[in-house]
Order: sequence, then structure tokens, then C-alpha cells
Amino acid sequence: MIPYIVVGAGFAGTVLAERIANKLGKKVLLIEKRNHIGGNCYDFRSKEGILIHRYGPHLFHTNFKEVWDYLSNFTDWHLYQHRVLAYVDGKNIPIPFNLNSLYQIFPGYLAKILEEKLIKNFSYGKKIPILELMKNKDKDIKLLANFIYEKIFVGYTQKQWGLKPEEIDPTVTARVPILISRDNRYFQDKYQGVPEEGYTVVFNKMLRNDNIKILLQTNALDLLKLDINTKKIYFLGKEFKGILIYTGPIDELFEYKYGPLPYRSLKLKFRTIDKEYYQETATINYPNDYDFTRITEFKHIHPIETSRTVILEEYPKSYTPNKDIPYYPFFTKEAMNIYSKYKNLAEEFSNLILVGRLAEYKYYDMDDIVKRALEVFEEKIK
Ligand code: FAD
Ligand code: UDP
Repeated sequence: MIPYIVVGAGFAGTVLAERIANKLGKKVLLIEKRNHIGGNCYDFRSKEGILIHRYGPHLFHTNFKEVWDYLSNFTDWHLYQHRVLAYVDGKNIPIPFNLNSLYQIFPGYLAKILEEKLIKNFSYGKKIPILELMKNKDKDIKLLANFIYEKIFVGYTQKQWGLKPEEIDPTVTARVPILISRDNRYFQDKYQGVPEEGYTVVFNKMLRNDNIKILLQTNALDLLKLDINTKKIYFLGKEFKGILIYTGPIDELFEYKYGPLPYRSLKLKFRTIDKEYYQETATINYPNDYDFTRITEFKHIHPIETSRTVILEEYPKSYTPNKDIPYYPFFTKEAMNIYSKYKNLAEEFSNLILVGRLAEYKYYDMDDIVKRALEVFEEKIK
């Protein structure tokens, strides 16, 4: 009898499988429906040798020392710090919008007045979400906030979510605040980088243990059955008395009993370009032009000398269950009500643990999910 079944080989499932196999010395069956491990962090090398992030650009950043230390057991780091520009009124300006962006957009004398007011109102180094900045009483700051809102947030958010910034959960736009500083980095976290050999190599190292058996291209829900009357779990027709760790979509686990949860999906368009570099930095956002939100050029993230380059355009789209990839949980009041019903039902199963961006319906970054998986191991498994 297998003591642990883990569904999903993204960071959530992989950290838990690794801990159970290495720390407890117990056997784990890891079931993954894709033909590779790594979940949305999976990367591979193109013909040119360029490391490509198959499911969109993944930059690792964290303030959690324990997460950085834990992953450092499996990789050295290329200490890359992500820089993003936004194409606005014919110029590429730093994002998050900061004091450098301000001077690029406005004439010097006006930028100076606004800079002084921002520093006086908030102090140097502060980060202000756009929806907060817009509430400021000072009429010049308000004017600036409205400008940033219109030029950076409205169009991008419309493309990404199909809604206005004030219509989505405020924590989403707060991920990219206005910076009262001259720091052009996308993230300010203490630890930043990408695994030197890419994420897939890290996942392979984490899962290299005879206690771990991996079943790829297998939908776990074809093998598992959750009986919501008896609260028992069945695996291949027999009652499963071990621990089931599930990291896939929570609504799918319960056969959409309370209805599907909303997500946003993406169409990812990769293009190989016959020149050494395509753009000046890794990512350029297009809030107001084109149908894609951003273009990422991978060579800036993992430098390599090649005469060609690979770029990725991201086109947000609606999500249909079983057809599209559920990339982003789409928080609405109704969605959160549905989610809490699933969560309550899941809690009635004594041997079921839900972890991950899809299973917990949270906008987790990689470090959040590694931290969460490590905590779940300590609190519920060890
Ligand atoms: P996932 O990686 O989604 O893994 C879940 C796995 O479960 C998948 O492999 C799936 O195939 C499998 N699965 C689901 N159902 C079943 C089933 N029934 N049977 C078998 N297998 C199943 N985070 C950052 O920190 N920095 C970034 O720059 C960043 N960029 C991102 C860009 C994009 C476009 C997206 C969408 C996310 C980004 N993230 C980033 C977030 C990051 O991808 C997640 O935090 C991380 O992947 C979550 O890991 P997870 O294991 O919870 O989920
Ligand atoms: N956003 C925006 N303009 C930008 C960048 C971000 O309006 O140039 C908003 C948008 O609503 C987006 C959110 O901020 O969904 C979070 O952006 P982030 O870059 O964190 O998204 P992710 O990398 O997770 O796709």
C-alpha cells in the first residue's frame, strides 16, 4: 500500500514529494497529467540553446530566507534581477512606475514638483498601490495618479482580466505599486534570481529519490474517486487509507459540484527571430497597444551567445474548464463563495490535503507556494 499519493508535479507537489521521500524516507506516488514535471515553472532549451519558460516568464524573488535556503539545496543561482519597461506614448519607461519614469514622461520642472510632493506625502522608498494613490487629496498627485491609471493600468488590466482596475480584487493591481524611489527593478525582494540551469533541472534533482515514483501523462482523477457521502477516498477501486495531497483545481476534484471556479487563461505565442536581440530588456509591457500584454525575451534572463533570439507574446483569454489552462484565479465575491464551499467539503476528508495555486485558489508566487508546502509538511505530515 502506498502511504502517500501526490497529484501534480508543480512546486507544491514536488516540494511535498521531496520532503516525504527525503525527510521521512517514505514512498510517494506522484501523478502528473502533463508529459513533464515542473507544473507552470517548466522550462526547456530551444534549438539555439536558449532557456524557454514554457508557461510564461518565471522570475524567482523572495524575502523568505528559509525558501531561498531550501531551494539552494537543489540549485546554484544566476543572480538575475528582473527589469520591465512599459511602452507609453512612444517611450519605454520603467515599471513599476517610479521617479525615473516620472522624469521620462513629464518636463523636468513639472517632474520636480511632483517628485517633491510625492516624497513629502509618502516619504522616499514607499510603495503605493495605484488605487490608493488615486484617493490622495493633493490635486497634482491626483492628476499624476489619474495619468498613471490611464496609461499603465486601464488598458493592461482590461486585456488581462477583461475588467477595469477598480472592478478586480485590489490586491492584484497592488502587486505593481508606484515606487517613490529610483529603483528600476520589478521586484525589491532581498533574494532574486533564476536557477542556473533552469527550473526543470531543479525539479529533477528534487524528485531524484527511489522512494518517488512518477506517473506522467496520467489524469489522477481517472484513478481516484472521492466519495462525498462517506468521505472516503478510493484509488483504483480500493479504499485509500494513506494521505492524498492534491495540487490541481479544487472544483475539478469535486466534479464541479458547486459549479466551476472562474480563471483567466493565456494564449502564448513564441517567436524565433533572426537577430541577436529583439528588445532592450527582458520584458516590455504594452498597456495601450496590441492585443498582447507583454513581450518577454528569454536571452535577457538566461544569457547565452546565439545569433537568434526567442520571444514570447502573452494574449490573455477567457477560460473554459477541460479546454484551457487555468493560469490565473479570477477573484470575485461569487468565486470566493464557491471556493469556500469546496474548501469546507475538502476539510471533511480526514486524509486529504490541498496545497497549491489551483487547489487553494490563490494568486501564489513561486516562493509563496514553496513556503506553504514546507509549512504543510511540518504541520500536517511530519
Ligand atoms: P502548478 O505549477 O500549476 O502545478 C500544478 C500541477 O498539477 C500541473 O502540472 C498540472 O498539470 C497538475 N495537475 C492538475 N490536475 C491534475 C490531475 N487531475 N492529475 C494529474 N495532474 C494534475 N511566480 C513567481 O514567483 N514569479 C514569476 O515570475 C511568475 N510568473 C508567472 C507567470 C505566469 C504566466 C503564471 C501563470 C504564473 C506565474 N507565477 C510566477 C506563479 C507560479 O507559476 C506559481 O506560483 C506556481 O506554478 C504554483 O505551483 P503549483 O504547484 O501550485 O501549481
Ligand atoms: N498591471 C497593469 N499594468 C502593468 C503591469 C501590471 O495594469 O504594466 C496590473 C494588471 O492588472 C496585472 C496586475 O497589475 O494583472 C499584476 O501584474 P503582474 O505583473 O504582477 O502579473 P503577473 O506577472 O502575475 O502576470
